[in-house]
Amino acid sequence: MPISLTAAKAIGCCGVIQRVLLSDDGQILRLGTEERVFNRHQRRAIALRDGGCLIPGCGVPVNWCEIYHVDEHADGGPTHTDNGVMLCFWHHRNLESSGWRIRMRGGVPEVLAPGWIGHLSRRWRRVTKSPTRLVDRLAGAG
Ligand SMILES: [Zn+2]
Repeated sequence: MPISLTAAKAIGCCGVIQRVLLSDDGQILRLGTEERVFNRHQRRAIALRDGGCLIPGCGVPVNWCEIYHVDEHADGGPTHTDNGVMLCFWHHRNLESSGWRIRMRGGVPEVLAPGWIGHLSRRWRRVTKSPTRLVDRLAGAG
């Protein structure tokens, strides 16, 4: 059944797809078993680091967020904490059209605001909503 590219990307990031390679005769040549879904331990660690939907101004809390592969799994992006960030349902499905960009630098997520927000905000910056990391930042600043 045909599905939209957006739906396919969402399934590819959150859903479970098992790749099975068949020969022309119908023999199973390869059975993919790689993990494409973040496990609960990875999710907890990412939740501690990000503290909710990563997009500034979005208040969706950790428990309502999904984990997004920054480098898409379909393109070889690993299911690793250094490649996963928390996004709400809406930002996960509309990230490209929203104009927000996300990259990882040394295992820390950075965001780039869309052009319509203004040139002053148009730089890559680290973000977090994690109470633990915000307290650490305040302690470090003092
Ligand atoms: Zn969001």
